[in-house]
Amino acid sequence: MPYVITSPCIGEKAGDCVEVCPVDCIAEGEDQFFIDPDLCIDCGACEAACPVSAIYYEEDVPEEERSFIQKAIDFYKTY
Ligand code: SF4
Repeated sequence: MPYVITSPCIGEKAGDCVEVCPVDCIAEGEDQFFIDPDLCIDCGACEAACPVSAIYYEEDVPEEERSFIQKAIDFYKTY
């Protein structure tokens, strides 16, 4: 169950999460950053570092942001 980056990242792309991730599993996409769901070890460091609170534990992603779970999966299919 990985962490997921949601809509506040779009347009913000602060990138603080990339700096703190211990397994280097966050990549930059066109409009936002994405966490690789296969590599994330659920440490939570990125969630704490995000200045716009865009990152959630998958189970805690708000209903209106749940499409971002699939968006990350799709991103890594073609990455
Ligand atoms: Fe990286 Fe930890 Fe965030 Fe997963 S929860 S993306 S391992 S910083």
